[in-house]
Amino acid sequence: MNLCDKTQTLISGYIDQELTQQERQMVQVHLEDCDTCKTIYLDLLAIKNSIRQLEYPECEEAKMDKTLNEPTAKGLSIIGWIMLIIGMAALLIFQLFTFFSEPGIPIGIKLLVFLIEAGLLLLFISVLRQRLIARKTDKYRGVKL
Ligand SMILES: [Zn+2]
Repeated sequence: MNLCDKTQTLISGYIDQELTQQERQMVQVHLEDCDTCKTIYLDLLAIKNSIRQLEYPECEEAKMDKTLNEPTAKGLSIIGWIMLIIGMAALLIFQLFTFFSEPGIPIGIKLLVFLIEAGLLLLFISVLRQRLIARKTDKYRGVKL
């Protein structure tokens, strides 16, 4: 077996960093002064990198998609959002005519309650907005429908 053949059988292991110190040095030295083996090495490296890029995002994407689009989870979260929004709106309107217009309650307490509720509402809206944006920008959604 000549040096080129030997190097070429080790290239895959060299890229995956599975070689011994000695083998790695041998491949490294040979790649520096052999264009044929260097081309093979660069080609294989490019292939391995593109496979890696294809595999991982797709796996993550598929997993995320499955969790987010699971029918029960999706239905429950929509119902949850509707209930929360209706409940919050109704509570605020109700309080406007009772709690906030009640002269016996100190203005400081009213302000405190208002701040907490306004903060919660803003948080709801911001999360809801993020969800809607994520839904719109999901490039795979259209494909699967
Ligand atoms: Zn060679």
